[in-house]
Amino acid sequence: MTVTNGTGTQASANSAGAPSRAEVTVDTVVVGAGFGGLRALHEMRELGLSAIVLEAAGDVGGTWFWNRYPGARTDSESWVYAFPFPEIQDEWDWTERFPTQSEALAYLNFVADRLEMRPDIRFNTRVTSAEYDEQDTVWTVRTESGDIIRCTYFVPAAGPLSVPYQPDFPGLDDFRGEWYLTGRWPHEGVDFAGKRVAVVGTGATAVQIIPIIAHTSAEVTVFQRTPNFVLPARNYTLTDEERRGIRANYDSIWKKSRQHFFGFPMDLAGRTIHDVTPEEAQKILEWGWEIGGFHFIFETFDDILVDSKSNEVVANFVRDKIRSIVKDPETAELLCPKGYSIAGKRPPLGHFYYETFNRDNVHLVDVSDTPINTITEKGITVGDHEYEVDIIVFATGFDAVTGSYRGLDIRGRDGVRLADAWTHGPRTQLGIGVEGFPNMFMIGGPQTPFANIPVVIDGVAEWIGDAIRFMRDKGVATMEPTAESVEVWRQTVSAIVDATVLSEGPHSWFLGDNIPGKPRAPLFYFGGVGAFREACQQVAIGGYDSFILNPA
Ligand code: NAP
Repeated sequence: MTVTNGTGTQASANSAGAPSRAEVTVDTVVVGAGFGGLRALHEMRELGLSAIVLEAAGDVGGTWFWNRYPGARTDSESWVYAFPFPEIQDEWDWTERFPTQSEALAYLNFVADRLEMRPDIRFNTRVTSAEYDEQDTVWTVRTESGDIIRCTYFVPAAGPLSVPYQPDFPGLDDFRGEWYLTGRWPHEGVDFAGKRVAVVGTGATAVQIIPIIAHTSAEVTVFQRTPNFVLPARNYTLTDEERRGIRANYDSIWKKSRQHFFGFPMDLAGRTIHDVTPEEAQKILEWGWEIGGFHFIFETFDDILVDSKSNEVVANFVRDKIRSIVKDPETAELLCPKGYSIAGKRPPLGHFYYETFNRDNVHLVDVSDTPINTITEKGITVGDHEYEVDIIVFATGFDAVTGSYRGLDIRGRDGVRLADAWTHGPRTQLGIGVEGFPNMFMIGGPQTPFANIPVVIDGVAEWIGDAIRFMRDKGVATMEPTAESVEVWRQTVSAIVDATVLSEGPHSWFLGDNIPGKPRAPLFYFGGVGAFREACQQVAIGGYDSFILNPA
């Protein structure tokens, strides 16, 4: 027996007559209810398609659901860390320049409620596999709880930074204290009062958590392998007038962001470091440092990411700042990144990060030459020194971008596993489609732009919507990229990285080499949001000629 459920789909019924979740057919399955998944659901609804969103967590939010560690907040300014939906823009006000995790999560909850998305989302539902059936041209998606959902379009949006990486330190099971992974922070919080805390890692996450827990804990010991170029965020509370200004200017904010290299409403500086005297350069950098956020890199000089000499001027400026802020010269020197370019690793935004190292209860341990060798009952051993602690916080990053795809066990034509197709690095067309995986459209997939994520997601979702509309209008049953287009995109993505200073950083997660054994390959397109949108548009204008279109 079959019954029609609320999404207009067919579900089988169990013997008691109640609809079973066992087998359902919908137009689209979306994986993930973070920014990407919610944006995808909105797009499917605009197309009039039925869709189910499968979400492993108990609620919406994605990264903001999981990353609840103290100090977590966005590095994008609130007015551009959002959806461009008019009803949301009209009704939502941000309180700060860089919203906290709880505010970002509240925003996504607001969107889900306001747009009545929850009925189409299955929470606590982890996808275990997604398999393409060539005969019926459908995808079969299976979940941990035994759901089987068949769909025409499969849209994974599981998040580029959703699989936390925990190094395999021997002895962790012996540790008698508490330990936490920032990407899986307990909802009830952690009491640091009076505790001796170890923080492993000094990436964007650690940079946010360290200053906060330094206030309440007895002692914080930071284990640093590679120092970062931490830029001051200079957060502030928005005034009513600023909020009114944001609401009035959403159109121009989005217009600019869609053209900006990194998806922000910023302007090119219109100059390089070579255009000005060294004194003028310092003044301009000082301006960027005071304004805060990524303005320091994107609005001071246009050659920072492409000219090593210019980059070194900026890197030296930051090193001088570190030396002027951190009072202990030895600690300051350890905090100074050396041997790689600014942006060779993604620069974190700090909220009094360097200042925190002036506190008596904060200590820095350099593990670049002598690594952490074991975790003991009492703490962490580096070389022959044991650091006794009560709590260990692992802020050790993510198996970025491709990690979440591997976890989904996606199999395309002839049962080929996506993980196997990407053994030497991801292969996609525009970061959206994959050869041999018909009707799979990725949101937040590898080789999409490295930029402010909501802006990238919005463009990709819009493109997918247009592609599906085209398919339905023209009677196209399946589309997948040609092998040639995938190879051209891979070469394009690689050539751009090679032309910049970005490949100079050690263990960069955006190149995949923060994870032992993961192939080093660019996980992002660094050609800018504007150029990416143009490339996407050209494919659409060309009738999707870089895709194989099979008639219904
Ligand atoms: P991350 O940048 O990859 O940093 C991980 C840290 O752990 C690094 O310092 C790394 O050292 C260290 N580490 C890893 N394995 C280690 C080992 N075996 N021994 C010692 N140290 C080890 O990860 P993340 O801080 O979570 O940030 C990742 C990205 O998430 C950011 O770049 C950002 O894009 C995003 N993020 C954004 C925000 C925001 O927007 N507000 C906040 C947090 C994160 P090495 O550098 O030597 O590898």
